[in-house]
Amino acid sequence: MNFEDSPQEAQFRATVREWLAANAEPKRHPRDFVGDGLPADQRLAAARVWQAKKAAAGYAAVTWPREFGGLGGTPIQHLIYLQEESKWRSTFGYFEIGIGMCLPTLMAYGNQHHKDRYVRTALYGEEIWCQLFSEPAAGSDLAGIRMRARREREQEGSDWMVDGQKVWTTGAQFSDFGLLLTRTDPTVPKHAGLTMFFVDMKSAGIEVRPIRQMAGESEFNEVFFTGVRIPDEQRLGPVGGGWKVALTTLMFERLTVGTELGLLTAQSMLSLLADRGDLSDPAVAESMADAWIVDEGLRLHQCRTLTALSKGSTPGPEQSIGKLLKARQAQRMSTFLMDLAGQGSLVVDEETDSLWSSVQRTWNWSAALRIAGGTDQILRNIIAERVLGLPEEIRVDKGIPFNQVTK
Ligand SMILES: Cc1cc2nc3c(=O)[nH]c(=O)nc-3n(C[C@H](O)[C@H](O)[C@H](O)COP(=O)(O)OP(=O)(O)OC[C@H]3O[C@@H](n4cnc5c(N)ncnc54)[C@H](O)[C@@H]3O)c2cc1C
Repeated sequence: MNFEDSPQEAQFRATVREWLAANAEPKRHPRDFVGDGLPADQRLAAARVWQAKKAAAGYAAVTWPREFGGLGGTPIQHLIYLQEESKWRSTFGYFEIGIGMCLPTLMAYGNQHHKDRYVRTALYGEEIWCQLFSEPAAGSDLAGIRMRARREREQEGSDWMVDGQKVWTTGAQFSDFGLLLTRTDPTVPKHAGLTMFFVDMKSAGIEVRPIRQMAGESEFNEVFFTGVRIPDEQRLGPVGGGWKVALTTLMFERLTVGTELGLLTAQSMLSLLADRGDLSDPAVAESMADAWIVDEGLRLHQCRTLTALSKGSTPGPEQSIGKLLKARQAQRMSTFLMDLAGQGSLVVDEETDSLWSSVQRTWNWSAALRIAGGTDQILRNIIAERVLGLPEEIRVDKGIPFNQVTK
């Protein structure tokens, strides 16, 4: 395992640091993003400005080919950029899904016209994409989706008419396009009857209803489709081949969520505890030591990933370990600190105590992180079956036509 950058990696890191120092704003606390504190529309406008600046320098998509506005870099350079950027104010919540998941899928399955028309505008933050996969009865069991797409006329190339509901769609309220998984044939087993499209979110028949969360924000939405027409030209992959396309998106999703930025670290927990003078309490010191050990394990896990990437191999199912531990660690540390502060934890005062505000934000957000991009239980299944080689979970609907499983 390599703990240090190679000479080329160190050179790249130095270039990135120089660019960030000249172009980015310093962070006031771990979860401090561009436009924080501004009204929603101004926050989005500020995020677009930062995104365009990054794109012009090639850093918006380090691994993408130069012809699509990337840097033609390696995955390890991408991670180096993310590590360095996480020390500065960046954006969060607008472009990750499009650039991290939807556009790579479009580049893998779309035609030349799609690539020319949609990739650059997304990269520069001019158009935003969302992921329309989950439904009320299909999250972990994604292949169980029911949103129905039917050809308008029984002929090759005919438009499609789409009806049904999606849920938990992050950013749908300000998205221009969405990657849409549908069921086109319910008479075959569930994985075989799916087809992927992309859809213009302003199409007639789409209704987006924001879901209000406990912290007052609405990050995600319910999205209703009633007779929405989608041209066959916006189909990605073959009819019935949607599962394979979805797996491509999910692979990119695990990588995106795995590099989640701005969470509370054991180092920042230590600073808070030291400031409060709590470390002399043995119970507090023990919790701090537990947090430190997990953080160190996560750091070594990341070193292993970086080493694998720098040797040219692709991260595999073992990536689930990092995501599983990171989300649980963030929740455990922030809950501990909130408990310790007692009623004081309810006071929000970003001006006077920015580190404390990041504890509160981490506490609010960490529960969601344990669900998004694969729940703890699903990640454990993946680790059990695909990393440890344990027997597969029983799948009672295997091989049975979808319309015989659901009535
Ligand atoms: C912050 C956030 C953002 C999201 N953004 C999007 C988005 O943009 N687009 C989108 O399409 N979706 C999005 N989602 C939805 C997300 O993909 C689903 O919430 C997730 O896949 C879990 O599905 P579910 O909520 O239906 O829970 P379920 O699948 O119903 O799971 C309920 C519980 O049962 C457990 N469980 C389920 N199956 C098994 C099993 N086989 N073995 C053991 N336990 C099991 C789960 O672990 C969980 O604890 C988002 C979710 C969150 C939290």
